[in-house]
Amino acid sequence: MARHFAALAIAVGLALALVPAEARAGEPVEGLKLYQVSSGRLELDKGFLTAMVDVGKRIKVPVAMYIIEHPRGVVLYDTGNADEVSDGGCAGYWGKAICDGLVPTQTRDEVIDRQLTRFGYSVADVKYVIYSHFHLDHAGNIELFPQATHVVQKDELRAAWWPEKWQRGAYVLKDYDETRDFKFMELSGDFDLFGDGSITVLDTKGHTQGHQSVRVRLPKTGTLLLAGDAVYTPENEAGTTPGITWSTIHSMESIQRLKRIRDAEAGELWYSHGIEQYESHQHDAPYE
Ligand SMILES: [Zn+2]
Repeated sequence: MARHFAALAIAVGLALALVPAEARAGEPVEGLKLYQVSSGRLELDKGFLTAMVDVGKRIKVPVAMYIIEHPRGVVLYDTGNADEVSDGGCAGYWGKAICDGLVPTQTRDEVIDRQLTRFGYSVADVKYVIYSHFHLDHAGNIELFPQATHVVQKDELRAAWWPEKWQRGAYVLKDYDETRDFKFMELSGDFDLFGDGSITVLDTKGHTQGHQSVRVRLPKTGTLLLAGDAVYTPENEAGTTPGITWSTIHSMESIQRLKRIRDAEAGELWYSHGIEQYESHQHDAPYE
């Protein structure tokens, strides 16, 4: 009997060794860590975030970005406001109307390249940049990463290059007008970036045509769902329709999708523009 068990154990061990990485997805990846940082603050009308609730009330929000170190390379999720917007440069870059509406208070040191340096990485270390979407506060610094592979939904690229007229204000073409020859991974739906289940891009269209969120499974912290702008605040999570959406129905379905995955994996849902949650997190050390 014991010999049978031994034979079985060897067989199982052999079988596991032969199974490719993607089939074993879900096992924690040692050394995976994640930093949450912010591209300064925006001050905006809360009605942008919560439709019909607190319209006209001005609030300050962070602009979350993530630096993720994986054994196979550094990955970013979003790049924040363009560096040109830093230190009072907004009107000359976004134009007065947008600057009056969003009032960015970004210093040059808060731009993603310097945030990378703070933690010992360089721009050249970045292998993949995943974009929630191409709005001005998320894709502003794509041109700092000419060597990286840029992970975007194909629908988002098309929307960014030729937005609907009513969406045009939030897409700043000069953020990415010199990226036609960059390497893009054009997705249509979900994608497991390294095939090991640790960093998975999730289709969460609604805020824009090609919005995507990211699920990160950290060895100690567990599952984090980085919502991007799919869920701005806890009020959206609780059912308040987001103020700015390309499609409200898709937006509400994406919120449900993220909550379902969060619940299934006992994870956490992190917002891009939720100030209270952001301030409750650590920003000088990684989550592991
Ligand atoms: Zn945003």
